[in-house]
Amino acid sequence: MSDARRPTVQSATHTGGGLDRTARTIMASPVAKVFAFNGCWICPMCSGVFGAITSSQSNWMERAIIHLKTDCPSIRSGERIPKVAPEVMKKNALPQAVRISYAATPYWKCRDHIGNWYCPYCLGGGIRVSGSSPFAAQEIESIIDHILRCASFANGSGKPKTQAQIKQAIDQSNARLERQVRLILSNPASKIFSFDTFWICPMCVEIQPGITADLVNWVEMAAQHLRHACEPVKEGQLAPKLPPYQMKKNVLEQGLRYAIPSMPLYRFRDQSGRWYCPYCTHNAVKVSPADAPLTPADIEVIAHHVQHCFYFDGGRGVAKPIALLEDLVRQANTKLDASQDLRGRLRDDPVWRVRDRNGCWVCPYCRKPVLAVSFQPLRAEDAVDDVSQHLLKHCDGYRRKVQPARDVSELTVLEEKTQVVARTVADEKTEMIQVDRKIYEMMVRMAKDHVISKSDTQSEMEGMLVSAQKTQMKMLPKAPHLPGFEIDVLYRPSQQLSGDFYDFIQNADGTTGFLIADVSGHGIDAALVMGMAKKVISMAGRMQSDPKGVLTYSNEVIRPDLDRGTFITACYGVLHADQRLFRFASAGHNPVLLYNPVRGDLPVAMRPAGIALGIADGAQMESTLEQMEFTLLPGDIVLQYTDGVVEQTNPAGEMLQIEGLMEILRANADRDIRHLLNAVDDALTRFRGAKPQEDDVTVVCFRVQ
Ligand SMILES: [Zn+2]
Ligand SMILES: [Zn+2]
Ligand SMILES: [Zn+2]
Ligand SMILES: [Zn+2]
Ligand SMILES: [Zn+2]
Repeated sequence: MSDARRPTVQSATHTGGGLDRTARTIMASPVAKVFAFNGCWICPMCSGVFGAITSSQSNWMERAIIHLKTDCPSIRSGERIPKVAPEVMKKNALPQAVRISYAATPYWKCRDHIGNWYCPYCLGGGIRVSGSSPFAAQEIESIIDHILRCASFANGSGKPKTQAQIKQAIDQSNARLERQVRLILSNPASKIFSFDTFWICPMCVEIQPGITADLVNWVEMAAQHLRHACEPVKEGQLAPKLPPYQMKKNVLEQGLRYAIPSMPLYRFRDQSGRWYCPYCTHNAVKVSPADAPLTPADIEVIAHHVQHCFYFDGGRGVAKPIALLEDLVRQANTKLDASQDLRGRLRDDPVWRVRDRNGCWVCPYCRKPVLAVSFQPLRAEDAVDDVSQHLLKHCDGYRRKVQPARDVSELTVLEEKTQVVARTVADEKTEMIQVDRKIYEMMVRMAKDHVISKSDTQSEMEGMLVSAQKTQMKMLPKAPHLPGFEIDVLYRPSQQLSGDFYDFIQNADGTTGFLIADVSGHGIDAALVMGMAKKVISMAGRMQSDPKGVLTYSNEVIRPDLDRGTFITACYGVLHADQRLFRFASAGHNPVLLYNPVRGDLPVAMRPAGIALGIADGAQMESTLEQMEFTLLPGDIVLQYTDGVVEQTNPAGEMLQIEGLMEILRANADRDIRHLLNAVDDALTRFRGAKPQEDDVTVVCFRVQ
């Protein structure tokens, strides 16, 4: 603002008459009679475009004067002379003028069913709007932008189409779309339902939630989707592209997420929340209990199972009948009720809490001690599975429906007659023999040097593994010859380097140590630990003949060298051939099986208490270890094994379990030990079928002749 103008501004604001004169002077100028393409007056001072002041009004000039006198920002700031040429004014006014026309003209806001907006000049524009008017701000900007650039608009010199013309174009487009929709719906691909329920749009190949086969108007709903929502249709795709099986496959995951919460097929859960797969009937998936709704996380785990379910077979599998699934859940619930009941008895009923001298639970039905549940102390929670296992599978009394004992005295009397004579020697004092720590460290170094050599290339690595494997095999001895006993071993590592190991320790006093152990993990680390642990335990076995002492000592020596989370389960037994006695302790290892037809129909599993090596310190370890022993009878078969035997799964995902091994043992007991172990090996191979061997398998076995 220049100094020269200031007095004029002051006079203008002081005298209304002066302002009127100024306005009329401006209006006399030709630049005051310039209109935008749509007839809106353009103020020559502020360049404003006015939808309310148009060339068609007879009093437009009066309105313009009112603007100049009262509203015009340029006049207010003291300007008095128009500065812009009419052509430039018209050009500058275009965006404002287009906005005014757009706002004022309803048929400039028309779209067809697909959502194409129709330019009032070219009837095209290529602008897609998401809904009907008012359109989104962004969409309006695109529309204004198009008109300003539109060749038919031609900077305002073009002639807009009439409402009728636009309507006709839209009707034609809608009719074309309708024909296409009908065509798509007549295609067989439009009648594909995921899980026979959820409609799959053949164009976008997505499940449309809410369009299901059971709805009478599903075709109309599908048409609605194709008309208004389906992207490929909007993009101009004319026909389905995928064959039906591919469509189904593509929406499998999506379909599952709709099917699981809504279809009866997927609703089978027992009281504990185990979900029953309608295809394979397994109940490995744990979700919310049956009376609670499925959570999104539940649906996720179920979907995960079904997708990978062998019997679902990518959607080709056939679900089991509802009646069967109902039956499974009913059975499971009955069993859960029963185990609830059993848990109560084991907790509260003295008759169900009787134990013999060895700490073995005595069954009120068969009145025999059941070694499989020799836990310490008796905890209903831990025992309930073992006890129900015993009752359902092994108990003669329960099977014959005999009256269970009503009084504790009925059971304690019978205790004296039990056939397995076991005696705990938990309170026996253990003499710890100290070994120079240095000797042990040297052994660890030796073991490591055997296995690790510096090598870079793959073949060197492989060569190293093979040599390590050889070293490992060399460390594992053949079964010893012991007069009056038949001894053998089955050893089948699952990888080149195994975590399983065993040993026979023949001592000068005529006793023989039987060691079997399993290092957690596989590969080089497990092999290293194995080499070291075997030396330590074997050496401890040579130093003393007390199994509990051997394990306590070994734990003490080995523990500092184990990584956190690495542990070793081990069972160490000492055979006193002269006394015909087997005494053993177990550091978290699998039970020892004893079988002799003269003792009973079924093998017994003996599991003295004890935690794995490498977990607890000396005193703690010693306090957890229990020791058991029994007098050997001619024909006794004693079998130690690692969990690779009982945890091997078959193609259906079931484990062999201890019952499976017991069955193999029982069925082959009349063979010599070599053949018995071969039979175990064969049975395992048959059991796992096409599945790989999952873990190392080691079985150490002897028979009393
Ligand atoms: Zn103005
Ligand atoms: Zn256009
Ligand atoms: Zn679609
Ligand atoms: Zn399944
Ligand atoms: Zn029983």
